[in-house]
Amino acid sequence: MPDAMQPLRDSVAAVHEFYMKHGCPCRFPRFRRLVSFDFKEHGLSPHALHEQDEFLALAVRGKKAVYVAEGGPPARMGDAWHHKCSRCGAEAMLEFEEYSIIMHCERLVVRPTLDDLGALAVTPSPLHWGPYGVGDESDRKALDSLFRQVHDLSEFESFMTELA
Ligand SMILES: [Zn+2]
Repeated sequence: MPDAMQPLRDSVAAVHEFYMKHGCPCRFPRFRRLVSFDFKEHGLSPHALHEQDEFLALAVRGKKAVYVAEGGPPARMGDAWHHKCSRCGAEAMLEFEEYSIIMHCERLVVRPTLDDLGALAVTPSPLHWGPYGVGDESDRKALDSLFRQVHDLSEFESFMTELA
């Protein structure tokens, strides 16, 4: 069965490789903003971003993961799990919460230690697949103000890899 997410996965992998060539993802504000997305900060019902999930799958759980766990997972769901960047040593907090059998949210908050290399984060930021979750009209409005859908993945890639 063809996997609809594969083009996004390839795109995210290319962006991640770019970050690793420049040291690590910590120095890219647009990466930090994307992977730390928290629906609660925007008064939304549970939502996550496909792009966020794909970056975390690579950067935290991938074969060449750059954020490495320090100690075991937290005893309580929702508590931060300490990670560290294996390249620059920055601290990164991984948070995971499950809302239903099909809905969980995972975010990573990176505390950079080095100067930024990437361009500043902007709102609305371009995403290809973007947010998913169960929401109403007010959720949709808020999400529309935070994210802008792009149809071309290369536009997403250029945005994520733009240098300062
Ligand atoms: Zn780093």
